[in-house]
Order: sequence, then structure tokens, then C-alpha cells
Amino acid sequence: MKAIDLPLQNILTSALPADPITDNYRRQVEQAVYSFVSPKPCSKATLIAYADELATELGLDFSTEQRQAWADLLSGNSIQAGWKPYALCYGGHQFGHWAGQLGDGRAINLGEYSAKTGNVTFQLKGAGPTPYSRSADGLAVLRSSIREFLCSEAVHFLGIPTTRALSVVATGDQVLRDMMYDGNAAYEPGAVVCRVAPSFLRFGNFEILAARQDHVTLKLLADFTLQQYFPHLGEPGKEAYLRMLAEMADNTLEMVVNWLRVGFVHGVMNTDNMSILGLTIDYGPYGWLEAYEEGWTPNTTDKDGKRYAFGEQANICLWNLWKLANALYPLIEETEGLQEILSAFPVKYKKSYLAMMRSKLGLTTSQEEDVFQIRHLLDLMERDRIDYTLFFRSLSQINAKNVGTETSEILIRETSYLGASILEPKMTDWHSWLAWYTGRLQAENSVDAERILAMNAVNPRFVLRNYMVQLAIEAAEKEIIPKLILCINFPKHLIYS
Ligand code: AMP
Ligand code: MG
Repeated sequence: MKAIDLPLQNILTSALPADPITDNYRRQVEQAVYSFVSPKPCSKATLIAYADELATELGLDFSTEQRQAWADLLSGNSIQAGWKPYALCYGGHQFGHWAGQLGDGRAINLGEYSAKTGNVTFQLKGAGPTPYSRSADGLAVLRSSIREFLCSEAVHFLGIPTTRALSVVATGDQVLRDMMYDGNAAYEPGAVVCRVAPSFLRFGNFEILAARQDHVTLKLLADFTLQQYFPHLGEPGKEAYLRMLAEMADNTLEMVVNWLRVGFVHGVMNTDNMSILGLTIDYGPYGWLEAYEEGWTPNTTDKDGKRYAFGEQANICLWNLWKLANALYPLIEETEGLQEILSAFPVKYKKSYLAMMRSKLGLTTSQEEDVFQIRHLLDLMERDRIDYTLFFRSLSQINAKNVGTETSEILIRETSYLGASILEPKMTDWHSWLAWYTGRLQAENSVDAERILAMNAVNPRFVLRNYMVQLAIEAAEKEIIPKLILCINFPKHLIYS
């Protein structure tokens, strides 16, 4: 086994105030952005999966003879000289209520790696307790680790900003979990995911400092964020903070419109799960639309409230941005600029969402009627339980020549979860919508071959449906994958071509 050198810098910890206590016990951490903490060694680190493309992009060698060394490093079992691992302190609004201090309860940051595209932080999720673990164990199970690993890579290859996942390492330890939340806890195999992102800072990192009225640390964090991630916005000061919030809002908007494009539902958009860079972060009870349903949520604890349902996600982004703006207020002390940014959000969202939906339909011009016709289409899709991914993928085959024929009947029948006899009386509505659609294509002189290419570039052929993740988890739990090592790559040409 060859030793690996993973050179990491301590950029964040050198610049920002640390918790002076270094013993690892649960506590409230004040006047600090993070606490130094060491990962918990595990019994037997085994590399289960790694993301080939990301490893190559970072210039990391995962060839066979290196894998055990990677397993030890990426489980937290071995810490290299010079690394100073730490857990971040943050708070958050959970399901609409202030939850106080949360923090990296089961994530430990190793430090920053200098990649060709810029610095990225390496973070281990599930590597043991931290001062922020509250009553939990700081661990993660194989099941949830595979869910996070596969989904963050899938979201990346779908062209959506996200934290990445480099690896999953089984720890050889058993972790007690109540999978169904029904009081029947059982032991499950433990694992650690190595996540990689330019920053893991969240809205909640600012909120906790503002809630404690610690404006000194708040300013240090804002200045650090500005200089590290938004250096083009100028020197620290009120104007620059406002520009930074505006850019955070724009990035958040881009993220959510992309989620809506591919039918992704995050499931738990608390402000502690909102990245300051507009990255999709914290893959927990996420899901993907099958039949189109705006009120659908994969999160069983949100089944009644539906706060984080598919169709609510843009509103929730804005709600969360208000909380971020409130947290930055003590540094700006004027409401006008903040309000202006937040009022612009729904306007920009409307425009951006409409442009995105037009692109899904293969339309290159805009007409006033589009808003109504897109709404009408989504209503029909919801009524007739049409699969969101399959429908838009197949729609590219429809044109003015085949619209009234068997082709359009097949499109609806094959993408609906309803039986043919139930669909039969509903087909007239589809014929009229499709007639409008193909008329609209004709009016803009749409060229079939060009439109198909353009539509296929935004309407994915595959999303990570739950059953696919489930198959991977079952294989891993049967120890099929540990023998093979899952090396994933979701090539873009496969997803969109
Ligand atoms: P989440 O709902 O996963 O975003 O987590 C909310 C908060 O709970 C975060 O501060 C997490 O770090 C913490 N947390 C979740 N699971 C665990 C765990 N097993 N051990 C310690 N902290 C946890
Ligand atoms: Mg979280």
C-alpha cells in the first residue's frame, strides 16, 4: 500500500475565530465560527464507492493499490500532519421555527484543497461526534451515505450546482437507527461520505451569530465570505454586503429553477441546509417527481404541512433569503437595500421559470399566451398523472404533421400512470393542448432536428428515481458492491443525449 499525500490548507480556520475549547463534548459554542475536532477512528475502513470524474478532476489517484490508503484517509482513520479538522457552528430555521444552535453535528471538515478550478473543502460526513452533535451520535449509515453519494453526483451531471461526493467508505462499525421511525431500532452498517465543495457555509452560519448579537464575529464571517467567494464585489462595507446578498439570491434562484426543471424535491429546505453559494446541499429525504404533482414531498415528516413540497420550493428559497437578510442587517442597518433585493426575487423567478419551461417545450420565442398554456399543461399533467421526465423527453417527437394521429395518443398513454380506459375520455383536452403547441411551433418556424437537440439538452433521459438508489443500497448491503467497488460516472451524454 502506497502512502497518499493529500495536501490541505487551513484557510478558514486561519482567518476566523475558533472555539477555545478543544475537548469534544456537546455544548453551546459562542464567539466562534467553528470548533477544532478530530474524527473518530473506525474499526475497518473499506472503500465502497468513489466518483471517478471528480477524482480525476482533482488529480487524485484511485488506482487499486491506493484504495486502502484512501479508505483510511476518507474515513478519518488517518489524519495527515498539518491537517486541523473542524466542525462549523451554525443555527437555522427548521420548518419555519428558529431552532437555535445546530452546527456540523456529523460533519468534520478536513481543510481546503487547491484544485485547478479553485480551492475546495474536503468534508467527512459521519466521522463521529462533534460539539454540535446534541443528542445524536455523529454517525451515518451506509444506506443514507449511498443516497447522498449517488444523488449529489447525479445532480452535478444534470447540470445543477451542488456539493460533490468523492467517496463512500464503510467503517466496519454498526450504527443503531430507527429506519421507519416506529420505535424498532436496529443496527446497520456505518459509513462516511467525503463531500467536496468550494464552501460548506450555510445561511445558518450567519443566523446564529446575528441571533446571539455577536456582531463582531458576524462581520468577520461576512468579510471572509466576501473576500474568499465574492472578491469581485469589492472591499467589505455596506454596499459590498448588499451586492453579496444579491448574488446569493441570484445563485439560489438558479439552483431552484434547475430543481424545477428536472423534478427534484430537496425535502428539507431549512435555513441550515441552504448554501451561501447556491449549491444543492444535504441530501436527506430528497426525491424526484414521477407523476407530476406540485404538492408532492418525499419527506414523510412533512406529509401534512407540505412546506417543502415540489411546488413550494421557490417560495421557500425566498423565505430563507429573508432570514439571511435579517442576519446580515446588523452589518448594513438599512432596510431599503435589503428589501429591494428580496422584492426582485419573485420578479426574476417568474422570468427565469418561464424561460426554463419554454426551453423544456423547445420554444425559442415568447408569446403572452405561454404563461396560461404552460399552467394548463401542468394542470393536465397533474390530473392525468403524467410522468414529468418521460413526458418532456418524448414531447420532442410531436410536430404539426403527427399531432392528430396515434403518435400523440401514445405520448399520453405511455407517460401516464393511469389506465387506458380512464385516460380515454380525457384525451380531448390533450388534443387541444397539443394542437395549440404544434401551432405555436409552426408559427415560430421550428425545425424538428434543431428543436429535438435543444429539448434533449434540457429534458434529461434519466433522473435518479428512488428505485434506482434502492437497488444500489440493496446491492451494497448484500456486500456485492464492496467486492466490486462502485466507480460512478454519470456521463452527461447519457443523461441528456
Ligand atoms: P439535517 O436535518 O440532516 O440537516 O440535520 C440537522 C442538524 O442535525 C444538523 O446540525 C446535523 O449536523 C444534525 N444531525 C443530524 N444527524 C445527526 C447525527 N446522526 N449525529 C449528530 N448530529 C446530527
Ligand atoms: Mg443539514
